[in-house]
Amino acid sequence: MAGDMGADSAIHIMGAGLSGLAAATVLAKAGKEVHVHDIREDSGARFDGDFQALENWSMGVDFFDQLKEWGFDLSEFKATEFDVVDLIHPDDVITQATTPSVAYRIVERGTSDHTIDQGFKRQALAAGAQIHYKSRVKEEDCTIIACGPKGTSAVAYGEIFKTDHPNHIGFQLNDKLAPGSYSYLIIIDGVGLICTCLWRKQKKSDRFLNETIAWYEAHYPNLNRIPIKRVGGKGDFTINSNYKQDGRYYVGESGGLQDFMWGFGMRMAVWSGVLAANDIIGKGDYEADVRKHLMPYVRTSVSNRWLMNRVGDGMFKRMCNAWMKDQKKRGDGLLWIGKLFRPTFFKSILYRLVTPFMLVKDPKSMGRGVRRMPFRKALKRDVWEQSPEAVAIGEQWNEVRRKGAKVSFAKDAETDNKPQ
Ligand SMILES: Cc1cc2nc3c(=O)[nH]c(=O)nc-3n(C[C@H](O)[C@H](O)[C@H](O)COP(=O)(O)OP(=O)(O)OC[C@H]3O[C@@H](n4cnc5c(N)ncnc54)[C@H](O)[C@@H]3O)c2cc1C
Repeated sequence: MAGDMGADSAIHIMGAGLSGLAAATVLAKAGKEVHVHDIREDSGARFDGDFQALENWSMGVDFFDQLKEWGFDLSEFKATEFDVVDLIHPDDVITQATTPSVAYRIVERGTSDHTIDQGFKRQALAAGAQIHYKSRVKEEDCTIIACGPKGTSAVAYGEIFKTDHPNHIGFQLNDKLAPGSYSYLIIIDGVGLICTCLWRKQKKSDRFLNETIAWYEAHYPNLNRIPIKRVGGKGDFTINSNYKQDGRYYVGESGGLQDFMWGFGMRMAVWSGVLAANDIIGKGDYEADVRKHLMPYVRTSVSNRWLMNRVGDGMFKRMCNAWMKDQKKRGDGLLWIGKLFRPTFFKSILYRLVTPFMLVKDPKSMGRGVRRMPFRKALKRDVWEQSPEAVAIGEQWNEVRRKGAKVSFAKDAETDNKPQ
């Protein structure tokens, strides 16, 4: 039986990431004996210094208000708010998306004290949960499965660097630098990240990051970039027939609960962890709650992804123009982007029509009926030679790496797509 580890009555959670720690905190606060097992040496080690964005537009309610309502202490981790984002069009025009509220909160992932992972870890421990690192457990022996990605649907790679540039965010839609996806620049308190996401599987994928860095250096000449390390990893996007199976709860990325279009997953990870814990303590029904609260957004994102897979820079440009036009009219850049993420009748019909062609069955899903979005093949237009500036950036990185700089995705189970 799930969670029976040694026939004790304790609840065992597989994975001490955001979803597992959120669940552990709620359960331990309710007086349950909770053991969280993680194969890595610490929470956040999967990301090691990566900046990630908590988007604040996809739902009517602010995520930080939700966290407070669920009993989490926001002062336990650092979050930097932005109300303006450079929107970088595919033809290199840069406009600004602005909002009177909060567009993004940037948090750091990793093992430093101020990261969101360590903030959640401290709260789980304070609530009484026991966390076992470097602990390998069987899925069958755990009640909550919270171990992140299994397969690969997309990847993201970035470089962390020192900079004296003021805090800033840029979000770029460019199908060459980020095939089927986007790249971004985040600068917080003297540390920068330039990252590109690949929604099509590439050979020599390091050229995408090098060329993206070259692009940002050319358009933001005051970066004064001093490379520190490279970060990144894979994302797993699945639709499951059951989110609770044989007494086990599949939360966060283990349940495929992420935004298929652009990969936002932290909010759903924490939320699903809370929902699973609530079910266990008799305050909800996980399967029903996931379908009610999360799946409408996941399904919408599947439709969005299907549409994104069919377009390129021409449509990205039209999107940027439509976004800016709407912002001018309504005075808030979040409204247009928010609408893109919200469920609509059209997108629910599209979802039904496209999923049979878009998703592939996972035969090893222990009866859960998992269908995964496969990593798409490269297109002809993805084959290009690096610019001399990008080659120089690659060489600079090789030199920094030879001197001991780290690559966080080196330990990622998925190694066949990682840059050299
Ligand atoms: C490069 C990158 C950038 C991203 N950027 C954003 C962003 O900007 N905004 C956003 O919202 N989302 C982003 N995401 C997605 C987000 O990181 C995930 O959706 C989120 O972390 C999922 O949380 P989780 O709890 O499911 O998994 P995680 O937080 O990854 O935790 C899983 C834990 O399980 C452990 N584990 C793995 N296998 C086992 C096992 N067999 N046994 C025990 N433990 C195991 C891991 O070590 C890890 O600690 C990004 C993802 C990547 C890869």
